[in-house]
Amino acid sequence: VQFTKLRLSGFKSFVDPTELIIQQGMTGIVGPNGCGKSNLLEALRWVMGETSARLIRGSEMDDVIFAGTSKRPARNLAEVALVLDNSSRRAPVAFNDHVELEISRRIEREAGSAYRINGKDVRARDVQLLFADASVGSRSPALVGQGRISTIINAKPGDRRQILEEAAGISGLHSRRHEAELRLKAAEGNLVRVDDVVGQLT
Ligand code: ATP
Repeated sequence: VQFTKLRLSGFKSFVDPTELIIQQGMTGIVGPNGCGKSNLLEALRWVMGETSARLIRGSEMDDVIFAGTSKRPARNLAEVALVLDNSSRRAPVAFNDHVELEISRRIEREAGSAYRINGKDVRARDVQLLFADASVGSRSPALVGQGRISTIINAKPGDRRQILEEAAGISGLHSRRHEAELRLKAAEGNLVRVDDVVGQLT
C-alpha cells in the first residue's frame, strides 16, 4: 500500500492546513532544527492509531494540538489525514472496494480522538489493524526517526523478532489471536458457570 498524501491541520507546529504529496520510494525529510521534521513523523504515527502520548513526545494526548505561540492563539482541534493508494487491493475486505483510502483522526481538547476511514466512523482498533495488515503501523520500523536505526541494531532478540514479524505482515494476526484467546477464556468461564447451575438443578 502506497501512502500518497498527508494532510495536517492544527497538529503540533502545523497549525495551518498543510498537504504533503508522498511519492513512491523512500521519503526523507530535511530542514533546520526545530522546523517540524519529527512532528511530521509523529503525525503519521498518530493517524495510524498510536495511543502512547510518550511516543509522540507529549505528556498527554491533547499535547498534539497546536499550543499557540506569542503571535497565534492555541487551537482546540487537530486533524491528520493520510491517503493511501489501494489499487493493489491489499486493504481489509471491508474497505477493498475503494481505490483510494483516506484515514483520518481528529482530536478535540478534553474530548478525545475520533477516527474515520473514507468518511465512515471507525474504532481506533480498525485503523490499527488496517495498518498492521499492510505491514506498517505507528511503531513500524519503516518510520525511521532519529536514533531509530541504532535501536533496531541493538534490539533484543524478542524485539527484533517483532520487527521481522511486522515486515512479514503477521503482527495483525498476533493481535487477533490474543483477542480470540480472551474470548475463548471468557467462554470457558461461562461453561464452568453453566455446569455449576446444571449441577444444582440435578
Ligand atoms: P529536530 O531536528 O531538532 O528534531 P525537528 O525539525 O524535528 O527538529 P520538531 O521537533 O518536529 O522539529 O518540531 C519542534 C517544533 O514544533 C518546536 O518548535 C515546537 O515548539 C513545535 N511544537 C511541538 N508541539 C507543538 C504544539 N503542540 N503546539 C505548537 N508548537 C509545537
